Amino acid sequence: MKRLIASNSFVFSISLILIFICGGNNAFLLAQKKRDPGIQTTQVTENFYKVYVHNFVNMLVFNGPEGAMLVDTGYEPLDLSEAELKKIGVDKIKFIINTHAHGDHVEGNALFGQDAAIISSQQCRDNLLEEADFPKSGLPNLTFSDSLSIHFNDEEIKLYFMPGHSNNDVVVHFTKADIVFLGDFGFYENGATWPGISGNVYDIEKSIVRMTNLFSDNALIIHGHTSRYTMADLKLHAEMVKEAIMLVSPLIKQGLNLEQIITRNPLKKSSFSMVREFSDKWIWNMLRDRRH
Ligand SMILES: [Zn+2]
Repeated sequence: MKRLIASNSFVFSISLILIFICGGNNAFLLAQKKRDPGIQTTQVTENFYKVYVHNFVNMLVFNGPEGAMLVDTGYEPLDLSEAELKKIGVDKIKFIINTHAHGDHVEGNALFGQDAAIISSQQCRDNLLEEADFPKSGLPNLTFSDSLSIHFNDEEIKLYFMPGHSNNDVVVHFTKADIVFLGDFGFYENGATWPGISGNVYDIEKSIVRMTNLFSDNALIIHGHTSRYTMADLKLHAEMVKEAIMLVSPLIKQGLNLEQIITRNPLKKSSFSMVREFSDKWIWNMLRDRRH
């Protein structure tokens, strides 16, 4: 657990990059497209494969007699190909689920979703529609506002709209296998140290509380980027967010502006080095989205 709150220059520099990718908009991804390609496929259980592409993004493949489901699709130029998917037995992709509208999770939609239903939150589709260069054939064609169940390959897959990392996140629970695909929630070993440009502190707290009520401590968590993530990590993230809100809210309520709050630096009391280190950004985010 210590690694999650440790800070060093390596984590710091990588974090700065990822903040813009995962917390920014798709334009920031362009700079990242020169990353070394690479695919690592790991069998999670009998029908589930975690596919790590671009040395950066996790996708999940759920395959069975009725066809395959992909959770997220990576970014262009795509590392993953249909030929590569065939190696793990994928014949026909029936469903694609997008966890959110950031480019590293949706840019493969047009290629892999040719004959599939592409599912996302309504907000995710709305965001993608605003991107002039996003291909129409990759747009989600099945959307929902709160939750959705899919019965497929003898699984019940539950999708929940849980904004926080962005304004359009979906968390996916494979209920029988007890696998949760988390998308980009939470902090992780080489990234997100603050809620990001598109993130919302208050939504993060709300969504994680909902997750802890819905998912067991033993659920197998697959994160959008990191190699290993647990419910305990998620709960720690919720504590971090809760504490930050508690420390900053009184000053927001007093009507102080960004500069005044930064000068007082209430987050120096945070138990989390990530919050202390990026305190200005945390305060900026909370002030922007204030709900008090
Ligand atoms: Zn991401």
